[in-house]
Amino acid sequence: MANPLTPDVLVDPVVLTRALVDVESVSRDEKVIADCVEDALRKAGHLSVRRVGNTVMARTKLGRDQRVILAGHLDTVPVDGNLPSTVVDDLIYGCGTSDMKGGVALALHLAVTLPDPRYDVTYLFYESEEIESEHNGLNLVAGAHPKWLQADLAVLLEPTYGTVEAGCQGTVSAQVSLRGRRAHTARAWRGVNAIHAAGEVLRRLEAYHPRTVTIDGCTYREGLNAVRIFGGVAGNVVPDECGVEVNLRFAPDRSEKQAHEHLREVFDGFPLEITDSAPGARPGLDAAPAREFLAAVGIEPAAKLGWTDVARFAALGIPALNYGPGDPALAHAPDEHVEIGKIRDGAATLYRWLAR
Ligand SMILES: [Zn+2]
Repeated sequence: MANPLTPDVLVDPVVLTRALVDVESVSRDEKVIADCVEDALRKAGHLSVRRVGNTVMARTKLGRDQRVILAGHLDTVPVDGNLPSTVVDDLIYGCGTSDMKGGVALALHLAVTLPDPRYDVTYLFYESEEIESEHNGLNLVAGAHPKWLQADLAVLLEPTYGTVEAGCQGTVSAQVSLRGRRAHTARAWRGVNAIHAAGEVLRRLEAYHPRTVTIDGCTYREGLNAVRIFGGVAGNVVPDECGVEVNLRFAPDRSEKQAHEHLREVFDGFPLEITDSAPGARPGLDAAPAREFLAAVGIEPAAKLGWTDVARFAALGIPALNYGPGDPALAHAPDEHVEIGKIRDGAATLYRWLAR
């Protein structure tokens, strides 16, 4: 297949968005798109290009004092009858338009058209963000080539509809277990009902007041919820087991460990097992490249409430934020689309920030 990412396509981020969307790249099937992106980056001539799996990294080596990363994932969720792309008025429709080939197009367009940015820039196009983290290209690079990720700021071009979303909340899932003793319901006094014991757990959840925390001007709203409950043996048996699965979303002023301790405090007196967790990320907007980026965008940042790959950078000590043209509400939807105006605005903003 001839590479559709030709020079006249790369020069226009809108045309480039469509070209990227039309190279189908569902998670674990990103070889073709990674080949196209790698080829385009190598032909640019001014970039040093490396590849691991279907993750492609390209960087300038201009000897600048500071380095920034522009990153985007190449994969999409499964196609839902929404390829190839179509254009209706100011909208490009198709799988991956919003999440996040509009953003990938901005990074690729800058990579090939801006040979002398004011900071050194590392461009990262990575695989398998939409599936389990063991396949995540950014995660693999962090493990195998952590030097590729050294920078003073990382901008992930995930959909934010042109706003800046900084940091992200952490998450903990846990199971609270209740124990009882089985008995026939006709002689219930001989047993102990584990489901009734869950009442106290639910009362604590109902009475819980989640915190609202502001860091660097970004407001995070925590939440603690029961997300699943199970128990029961048969219609005539007093149950001896009940489990309540809870999920805590916590602001990045708590460490992962502190979040675990907080859950143990809330459910003090009950056996609690942590089943999954991930740390949050502080917004980190005080570094110079971040302040200059915010000035270029010209609007106040907001908190990211969901968990994103921003936290992977934070774990390496690199401040990171999300900024992209797509609308996050449309990600993964069959009518996914991106506004052409938002792509043009995004390209202009990034040029303002990075051009000398
Ligand atoms: Zn995404």
